[in-house]
Amino acid sequence: MNEPHQRTDVAIVGGGMAGASLALMLSHFCPQLRVVLLEQSALTDAAASVRLPSFDTRATAIAAGSLQLFQQLGLWPALREYSAPIQRIQVSDRGQAFGACLAAGEQQWAGFEGMLGAVIENAALGPILHSALADTSVKLVAPAQVTTVCMGARGASLRWRAGEEYAERRLTAGLLVVADGVDSPLCRQLGIEIDTVKYQQRALVTTVGLQRDHSGVAHERFTADGPMALLPLPQRDGLYRAALVWVCGQQDAEALCALSERQRLQQAQRAFGWRAGRFVRMGSLQAYPLSLSLAREQWRRNVVLIGNCAHFLHPVAGQGFNLTLRDCYGLAQAMAGERPVQGSSSQLQRLAAYGRGRRLDQQLTVGFSDRIPALFAASNPVLQGLRQMGMLGLTLVPPLRTAFVRQAAGFGL
Ligand SMILES: Cc1cc2nc3c(=O)[nH]c(=O)nc-3n(C[C@H](O)[C@H](O)[C@H](O)COP(=O)(O)OP(=O)(O)OC[C@H]3O[C@@H](n4cnc5c(N)ncnc54)[C@H](O)[C@@H]3O)c2cc1C
Repeated sequence: MNEPHQRTDVAIVGGGMAGASLALMLSHFCPQLRVVLLEQSALTDAAASVRLPSFDTRATAIAAGSLQLFQQLGLWPALREYSAPIQRIQVSDRGQAFGACLAAGEQQWAGFEGMLGAVIENAALGPILHSALADTSVKLVAPAQVTTVCMGARGASLRWRAGEEYAERRLTAGLLVVADGVDSPLCRQLGIEIDTVKYQQRALVTTVGLQRDHSGVAHERFTADGPMALLPLPQRDGLYRAALVWVCGQQDAEALCALSERQRLQQAQRAFGWRAGRFVRMGSLQAYPLSLSLAREQWRRNVVLIGNCAHFLHPVAGQGFNLTLRDCYGLAQAMAGERPVQGSSSQLQRLAAYGRGRRLDQQLTVGFSDRIPALFAASNPVLQGLRQMGMLGLTLVPPLRTAFVRQAAGFGL
């Protein structure tokens, strides 16, 4: 990339979970396309991946449908080594009698029998995605901070600079993929508006040591202060482990982050209860502000948005990355077989087909992630009754349970 000005078919800006996954899918399903992936952070080694926002201390629940996509890309053997299967999901409502248990049951997915999904620590996911890119024709340029984008008749013209080096480089792309995360500066430059609702909540994330094995059970526990998810992780150094996502108000979050490990353990155990046994260790809490952000346009001529910049969801149902992976797959399918000729009407039709194809899944997933926390936080007796009826329905009505299991596993209703 030393030449002053280069051309490519697709330029992806942002090498986080979304950008890296799309690059892998394009190289697999659209080998005719020249793809350049620009990431502003240096990716000198596996440890460098972990410094990216996507690949911090969080763990990600990856639904069985997404695992099948990773299997097609040949990544499942590497992911399996660092992940724990989800065999059941226990849903409970603190202080209420009925809960629900979801299991794969009759719904079995080839290669992932008995599993609803798997949980992998983001610190392991990043190096796996980035090292897989090395075996493809994708040109990964890092550090490369894209500073300006100009749209013209021949596509997108990008200027970027490498780390501390202030000399700007240029690249022209037939298709620009914006994958630079939530609150995207590139969307602002392109004049793409983003609707944001702030939830006034924080997700506190940490790893918990458990006294007993989690047996592949993921817990989704709703409390008046906010939902808590406890996700199975692989054992490490003889310790049973789980990833905790603990949603609470902003002030509570600040107070909890300031506690000692012993105090954090007590508070978490009190809030979560004893369904997963005793919590014996707990790392420090990392806080993430929560909002619902939706871009008003997800594509336009020569541009498409992927990942958090397109939709940033409440993490309650662990759907954000899974939805993004399905978007990436949809886009790769739409682009298969054709080189994006700059400004061509055929590319525009393909992007329009992509947008239409993804609309329903996005609406359902966004609606679910947005409404469930509010429904479960309500102390109104009518809503409490509805919740309990819902739990009972999931337990007693097999077709309802099947629909939920399919949605949780990323296969749609
Ligand atoms: C607490 C929490 C828990 C979650 N749990 C789950 C879960 O269990 N399951 C699930 O499916 N989803 C989950 N999600 C959602 C998931 O984390 C997101 O879908 C994922 O982070 C999407 O990443 P991204 O690549 O879009 O954005 P980011 O991770 O923000 O990546 C953007 C990348 O772009 C780069 N960049 C930015 N600007 C530029 C520029 N100008 N030039 C070059 N590069 C640039 C950044 O350095 C970064 O690497 C969770 C989210 C949260 C907050």
